[in-house]
Amino acid sequence: MQSSFWSPVVGRLTPYVPGEQPKLEKLVKLNTNENPYPPSPRVIAAIQAAARQGLQLYPDPEAMALRQTIAAHHGLAAQHVFPGNGSDEVLAHAFFAFFQHGCPLLMPDISYSFYEVYCGLYGIPVETVPLTEEMVLDVSAYARADGVSVAGVVIANPNAPTGMGLPLQQVEQLLRLHPTRVVLVDEAYVDFGGESAIPLIAQYPNLLVVHTLSKSRSLAGLRVGFACGQAHLIEALERVKNSFNSYPLDRLAIVGGVAAFEDQAYFEQTRAAVMNSREGLVLALEDLGFQVLPSQANFVFARHPQQDAAAIAAGLRARGVLVRHFRLPRIEQYLRISIGTPAQCDELVQALGSVLSGLA
Ligand SMILES: *Cc1c(COP(=O)(O)O)cnc(C)c1O
Repeated sequence: MQSSFWSPVVGRLTPYVPGEQPKLEKLVKLNTNENPYPPSPRVIAAIQAAARQGLQLYPDPEAMALRQTIAAHHGLAAQHVFPGNGSDEVLAHAFFAFFQHGCPLLMPDISYSFYEVYCGLYGIPVETVPLTEEMVLDVSAYARADGVSVAGVVIANPNAPTGMGLPLQQVEQLLRLHPTRVVLVDEAYVDFGGESAIPLIAQYPNLLVVHTLSKSRSLAGLRVGFACGQAHLIEALERVKNSFNSYPLDRLAIVGGVAAFEDQAYFEQTRAAVMNSREGLVLALEDLGFQVLPSQANFVFARHPQQDAAAIAAGLRARGVLVRHFRLPRIEQYLRISIGTPAQCDELVQALGSVLSGLA
């Protein structure tokens, strides 16, 4: 309910609606792209140790230990890394820092829906660029005639919610099309088979790459994400962050994030398990008659040519399986299904078989 106490802009916001986080434990939860595996035991041990020591003190405002760990992992220097309270916060600061030029920000018509929410928050005009019929990002559609200003470009690669990856060469074309603006590449899912643009940072002063520990490192509950880019971009993010919250990362998040990068073997093992399950799930979905877009992420985006997606999602919900359905143009007949453990994928396929025979 609107209230006269609100700043006028609050009533005009269109907030992001996250996927359902049910209280019930028994559901097969394949709706928010979390990792089905727990974080590395080393993360838990590090958090427990930090919880026993030092919580009465503020954390390091620069989270330098985490910056250095991430930088070393990606072959960068600490001044090329900006960590934050989940990549959503890092993205919000980046939109504030780089895209408020009074002209439109370019983004795909089908992408992470939070991007438009930040634009609403900061009053950034948006120009959506349609993906092709096949849900492919056509880089040439991002070119603008001389004299036409844009605020920048934001894409997710692999894209959400399609799961489809853009080859690095085409990311480079985007960077060259808009050399005076930031091209933000959100690589939330890159560890599940995508190609990271981080190696291009030295060459492109306009490239900002954003990562999260929520998906491939099983830490959605800890809230850690980061941006990588040249020092002048990172400095802008610092200025915004230090005008908002000096301590976005608490002591537990800093040590947990460091430990996640130190257990490379666990990371390799769990992401390989997710990618393996994905291949099996795609085949099982195709057997059930689904058309599945090629995924390089920890989810698949699928539609059934005969049955309504909302009806399938409701049928799955009634059988204790959660998947994500977006009531949005072009994708309302698709379901986004996160990759679970092999047992969860089996339960999904069983439930789908039952739902489809009920609808037929
Ligand atoms: C999950 C996701 C995020 C948010 O990640 P957090 O670090 O959990 O805030 C950002 N971008 C995309 C495309 C995502 O899918």
